[in-house]
This record gives sequence, C-alpha cells and structure tokens, in this order.
Amino acid sequence: MSDSKKYRLPELPYTYGDLEPVFTAEMVELHYSKHHAGYVNKLNDLLEKIGYEAPEEIDDLIAGLKYSSIPKEFRDTVRFNAGGHANHRFFWEVLRPIREDGLDHEPSECLREALESTFGSFDQFKRVFVQAAMGHLGSGWAWLCISDKKKLFITTTFNHDNPLMAEFVGTPQFGTPILTLDLWEHAYYLRYKNQKANYFDAFWQIVNWSTVLTRYQKACL
Ligand code: MN
Repeated sequence: MSDSKKYRLPELPYTYGDLEPVFTAEMVELHYSKHHAGYVNKLNDLLEKIGYEAPEEIDDLIAGLKYSSIPKEFRDTVRFNAGGHANHRFFWEVLRPIREDGLDHEPSECLREALESTFGSFDQFKRVFVQAAMGHLGSGWAWLCISDKKKLFITTTFNHDNPLMAEFVGTPQFGTPILTLDLWEHAYYLRYKNQKANYFDAFWQIVNWSTVLTRYQKACL
C-alpha cells in the first residue's frame, strides 16, 4: 500500500454483533466493511488521482473544502466520499452496546443540564431530534451540534454533508457535531424496513453519551 492511501478505516470499538438487537451483526458488518470502507477507498483513490496532499485529519479536509486547492470538477466527489468517511467514523464512535438492564444509556449531569436548558428537558431534546430526523427527506444525517456561540442545536444534512462543511455547502448552519444519526436507508432497512420511527426510537439504547460529553467539553473549551 502506498503512502498516498491517506485515510484508513478505523477499527470498531466493538464487534459486529455487539450492537444487537438495535443493529444486527449483518447490518453492522455491511455498513462498516462495505459502505464505510467504500467511501474510504474511493476517497483515497480520488486524492491519489488528483495528487492532492490532504490533511492528516479527515475533519480538517471536510472543514477546509472551500479553501482547498482541489480542482472544482473533483470537489463534489471529494465532498461526498470524505463526508462519507468522516460521518461514519463519527457515527461508530457515538454508539455502544446496550445496557444489560435494557434501559437507555443517559447523558451525565453537565451534558444533561445543557440539553435541558436548551430544549426544556432530555425527553424533549430526543423528540426534537427524532422530529428533525423524520422530517428529513432522503439520504442524510441528523446532528446535535455546538455553534460558535456555544449553543446546542439540531440540524440535518443531505447525502454525506457535515455541519463542518457549512461554509462550502452554503447550508446548513455551521457547528461542531457532538452526536449524529445515519439517516440513509442502508443504515436501517435490513431490520426496520420502512419503519424509520422504530429505528430512531431504538437508537437511544446505544448512544455512547461519554463520547458525546467528551466532544461537548472539547468544543466548549
Ligand atoms: Mn451509513
């Protein structure tokens, strides 16, 4: 493998079957080893073809698209595959196996307080997040972000766009993502079919709130 194979598929912090019953092992394996790996490979091939010296961190690549020297005709393909890699890498990090007692994982005190003061209550936050996800038409991602002014907000993006790309895309609002949910059919269809609401509901069982908290604290510094 040459040095130009810049970006790597990250190791999952759990096995394919560890997210059951929310995601079956087959779903995670396909999602990770076919979909996510595909974005990484296509991105590396494209960067090699262009001869572009991409930054080490994928988030730096997507956040700097507007000012990069990537030729215009390749930018949308880079945007799509780099977003596909960045978003999936982040998605795996905000997930964890379900609790043994079957209850949802919950955010710790300081994050819970921030969610409560922004959305009214933790349950209301979850409702607004799911409403945004349900209201998003087509492929994309739902996000909980922190704005430049340190305010929490919820948004969705199309395809593999990421709130860090806001300047390049024009929309959505710019923010640092701290939680995300994959809204592509490939994320849920094998198990949930057309019952998206059940997928969004099950999602809360496997949210890794410690990762969300770490991101929140980092963004608030
Ligand atoms: Mn996906």
